[in-house]
Amino acid sequence: MAENGLMEKLVSLAKRRGFVFQSSEIYGGLGSVWDYGPLGVELKRNIRDLWWQDMVRSRPDIEGLDAGILMHPSVWEASGHVEEFTDPLVECRNCHRRFRADEVTNQCPVCGTKDQFTPPRMFNLMFRTFMGAVEDEAAQVYIRPETAQGIYVNFLNVLNSSRQRVPFGIAQIGKAFRNEITPGNFIFRTREFEQMEMQFFVKPGTEGEWFEYWKNARFEWVVSLGIREKKLRLHQHTPDELAHYAVEAHDIEYEFPFGWHEFEGIHNRTDFDLTQHQERSGKKLEYVDAAANERYIPYVIETSGGVDRLLLVVLADAYREEEVGGEKRVVLGLKPELAPIKAAVFPLVKKDGMPEVARKIAADLRREFPIFYDETGSIGRRYRRQDEAGTPFAITIDGQTLEDQTVTVRDRDTLEQERVAADALAPYLRKAIG
Ligand code: ATP
Repeated sequence: MAENGLMEKLVSLAKRRGFVFQSSEIYGGLGSVWDYGPLGVELKRNIRDLWWQDMVRSRPDIEGLDAGILMHPSVWEASGHVEEFTDPLVECRNCHRRFRADEVTNQCPVCGTKDQFTPPRMFNLMFRTFMGAVEDEAAQVYIRPETAQGIYVNFLNVLNSSRQRVPFGIAQIGKAFRNEITPGNFIFRTREFEQMEMQFFVKPGTEGEWFEYWKNARFEWVVSLGIREKKLRLHQHTPDELAHYAVEAHDIEYEFPFGWHEFEGIHNRTDFDLTQHQERSGKKLEYVDAAANERYIPYVIETSGGVDRLLLVVLADAYREEEVGGEKRVVLGLKPELAPIKAAVFPLVKKDGMPEVARKIAADLRREFPIFYDETGSIGRRYRRQDEAGTPFAITIDGQTLEDQTVTVRDRDTLEQERVAADALAPYLRKAIG
């Protein structure tokens, strides 16, 4: 399949099946903001839940947090974002379109004019707004461009209330906003997005081994989602790629239809952020190790991933087209844990009492799993629609069900059909979904 065509196919499938819609579409859309539809919101939730389970609930050494999007403006001065969170912007003198200087050559990608870019100027990516009823400098606040700072300013609150000891981590999932100069590639680069971040606080001197640990752990987690390993790689930042707060960074990259790009970063942020906040706020942000009679500002290893970008990885990796019995089918081969709908329930025909039995089975299963019920159209068409939605199992109620209370369960990938007792469906799905 031409990889170029794949993005268009994904955007179209995402809309057709209710994964992702353009924001404010009836008004012509809002640049680079996307809305998640009925299937998209489930898929996104599954991604977040699997991350939260892996990073927070299954570990004794990581605590969760949900900090506000708006923070004291001094946070962003201390963190360096007011000064440094910038991209070089150039404008084409002919068509007046603006671009990130590091993403263009000497030729304007829109109008084709050569050597007509203005000299680059630094453009701050933070959105600003006003808090309260006055619109002046004093009331200006920033809309967070990363969730990490909410973690740093709560370092002592979490430490003291949870009774953790270093090394330990704080994790958070939440929205972040960046006024990107050139957003694009569907949900890859948007101005409003969601991050899943974890800051792991360690004793200075041990950051090297923890960096290795987290780099490997995060890569393995992505593989555990069923993403093909040949499409994944780690990329180490060169000194000029490093963000202002990092001394070492590795990106986990995926081979998107538009090339290899990052969707998660592992960063050694040293003691930069906590030191900055200590100086600016005048509050001690040290860790006291009473047993060892030591006090220090911990170093931080950060894992920072984007929910939306990972969702694009998941969709791109799962999409396939196949020929079955001379007919084309589109399949989203999502791992069952990720699939928005776990099983579809179909009466073979809309008569002979089959819909009643099928509806009862669907209602029973719905107590535990997201289930889709459909009784209209040919069974082939109904299967095909669920293949596109990534539904791993289709349960069909047929003539035999009425005699022996068994149903067929069709596997989305192998297309094999198995007869299963209706009252054994819940354990069957539980086992298959893992
Ligand atoms: P890029 O180089 O692509 O702009 P970055 O290096 O600035 O990304 P980080 O600041 O490390 O990214 O952010 C961590 C993660 O947050 C990224 O790996 C990505 O998944 C997500 N992310 C960052 N910016 C965006 C965006 N504009 N749209 C969607 N996701 C984003």
